[in-house]
Amino acid sequence: MTTRRILAANWKMNLAPKAAIEYAKTIRAACSSAKLTDVWVAPTLVALQGVSEVLAGSPIAAGAQNVHWADSGAFTGETSPSFLKELGVTWALAGHSERRHLFGESSALVAKRVVGALAFGITPVLCVGETESERMAGTTETVLKGQLEPVINDLVPESRGKLVIAYEPVWAIGTGKVATVGEIRDAHKFIKERCVEAGFDTAPMVLYGGSVNPGNYAEIVSTDGVDGALVGGASLKIEQWRELLRISEAE
Ligand code: PEP
Repeated sequence: MTTRRILAANWKMNLAPKAAIEYAKTIRAACSSAKLTDVWVAPTLVALQGVSEVLAGSPIAAGAQNVHWADSGAFTGETSPSFLKELGVTWALAGHSERRHLFGESSALVAKRVVGALAFGITPVLCVGETESERMAGTTETVLKGQLEPVINDLVPESRGKLVIAYEPVWAIGTGKVATVGEIRDAHKFIKERCVEAGFDTAPMVLYGGSVNPGNYAEIVSTDGVDGALVGGASLKIEQWRELLRISEAE
């Protein structure tokens, strides 16, 4: 394998600060051999400083589960990208399906998060994906296009090369249902082609997310157009996380 991959963990609202710091120490010890894979973990915001300190100087980076676009201001409950930078954060999710579906974040708002993160040197992972009913209705590509469009339109050309996208079918997140290899290949191809058609010099890296585990990851990561994974549940179990990294490095 010659290309780089990304393995990202979304701990969601799990692991309180003390537990997150302990787990970060375990991850640091278990993942120190990562060479071909960019590994990062996103703890709850209140654990970010401690986790970032534990991971400093290791091949594992600290990431945020969300990011605002302004340097500072009257945005209660939000986190500035410059504050995240001060903690050593280099990655952030934007538009995770739980933000879109539970908290009503629109694609236009998510695009502002992506642009803001990039302006402060944080790599955003733009999450896109269709619901089960949208897939059943045959509108997956229309949904993906609608989620990509505001970001494509808002990004300045020089930032395009830094965007990372995660294809996460909503029906596969935390459910144990995994998209088929064909569904994943088609969605990743569509996302990459859409970006190139819109003027990107090169297609962005696209991660798959949705019930990834050590039993299905080897097949997923060898699928055309898959550049890594965004992992929820399996990232909280050290044996599974270690195995995902081993697969990423070996396949
Ligand atoms: C996620 O939270 O983005 C995710 C993919 O979760 P899970 O791996 O648990 O499906």
